[in-house]
Amino acid sequence: MKTIIEPFRIKSVEPIRMTTRAEREQCIEQAHYNLFNLHANDVLIDLLTDSGTSSMSARQWGGVMEGNEAYAGSPSFYRFEKAVKDLMPFKYLVPTHQGRAAENILFTVVLKEGACVPNNTHFDTTRANVEAQGAEAVDLVIREGLDPVSEHPFKGNMDIGALEQFIEQHGVKNIPMCMITVTNNSGGGQPVSMENIRATRAVCDRYGIPLFIDACRFAENAWFIKTREPGYADKSVREIVQEMFSYADGCTMSAKKDALVNMGGWLAMNNEDWAVECRNRLILTEGFATYGGLSGRDLEAIAIGLDEVVDEDYLRYRIASTAYVAEHLAAEGVPTMRPAGGHAVYIDARRFAPHIPPLQYPGQSLAVELYKHGGIRGCEIGTAMFGLRPDGTEVAANLDLVRLAIPRRTYTQSQMDYVIEVVHEVFDQRAALRGMKFTRQPRALRHFTGHFDYVD
Ligand SMILES: *Cc1c(COP(=O)(O)O)cnc(C)c1O
Repeated sequence: MKTIIEPFRIKSVEPIRMTTRAEREQCIEQAHYNLFNLHANDVLIDLLTDSGTSSMSARQWGGVMEGNEAYAGSPSFYRFEKAVKDLMPFKYLVPTHQGRAAENILFTVVLKEGACVPNNTHFDTTRANVEAQGAEAVDLVIREGLDPVSEHPFKGNMDIGALEQFIEQHGVKNIPMCMITVTNNSGGGQPVSMENIRATRAVCDRYGIPLFIDACRFAENAWFIKTREPGYADKSVREIVQEMFSYADGCTMSAKKDALVNMGGWLAMNNEDWAVECRNRLILTEGFATYGGLSGRDLEAIAIGLDEVVDEDYLRYRIASTAYVAEHLAAEGVPTMRPAGGHAVYIDARRFAPHIPPLQYPGQSLAVELYKHGGIRGCEIGTAMFGLRPDGTEVAANLDLVRLAIPRRTYTQSQMDYVIEVVHEVFDQRAALRGMKFTRQPRALRHFTGHFDYVD
């Protein structure tokens, strides 16, 4: 059979409010052409992020009812702990309300001013939390990872040579930890191979540097290893995940991604001294050690989500459904980042609308048009997001992209066919896309709250 079906039935539905183009034109004008300012009810297909937007299963909702809300020692915590340790066997586990809380606690304990953390690519909250300690976040992804048309199967890989050189230059004493992000979110959801995780571990061992995995999309990464890396086709996803984490000393996790829940996260590690300090910090900022920032029912839903996310029928469908969108866009000539990543499709807006200069935000113009034309909300990842420098001047970002992030188990194939059709129609009329400008912008993170309009 070549058709891969959604491996679930729908039991509970959430209506979508249908809108007309005229209504959407009014909504987006009132939102000052910033998609973050829209009311979600005015969006038909919301592809702003895959974070916290998963649908929970009937089993997870059943678990929510069974959540135990004891302040200390809840059985829900012990079920959560068992589910995490089955996949990621670290000694100490610290629940948090989100991934960034785990990052903040870890870096507060481990980093000092002037330290450096190498990573394949830091996610934006990870970078911000490293920098908040006065430390430096350094990205060392392989060269192919920066090339939008390279078909390399593991574009998220760490550049091992560059990592060794970096450690030699900066000295072990300034590098308290190394990280590797699976899949590489900021690099397009591209996977990291087992061989590369092992090689990163070998370098860390040689210098005595602890290795942490930013684990948000660990199951999607494991599926890519199973289907693309020689020697893994016959291993189960659970075994592959266990092997990935066997090379690390700890991990940070946002449960809003591959734990299939709407809120949650954790921090795990083997170092007892760090764990004691992290727990003290947790109690100060998040909550007691057996609940962190979460309710018992949240811990219960995570435990069940972790069992469901390594299910191979789920992962086959998940990765195929992302590739389906990317392949159908590419088939009509729409320029996209290659190959398709795990959780999102990235349209190359600079090649889509070459008549719009980068400083007139082709990605923003395309994202606005996808909303006006079909009610689809994507996200500009380009010059509007990254182009403003601390001194107030502006430069073009490396790439101008529109990310269509795909929530887990949430939209059907016919809804994705609609998305593909909308992009094709906008592509046919791409010469009509107009450049944009900021009419108001804050000094930092301007893409979240800035106001836009069309250039005259
Ligand atoms: C989402 C994400 C985080 C941060 O997690 P939050 O739950 O959003 O705080 C960190 N790293 C990566 C790779 C992510 O995708």
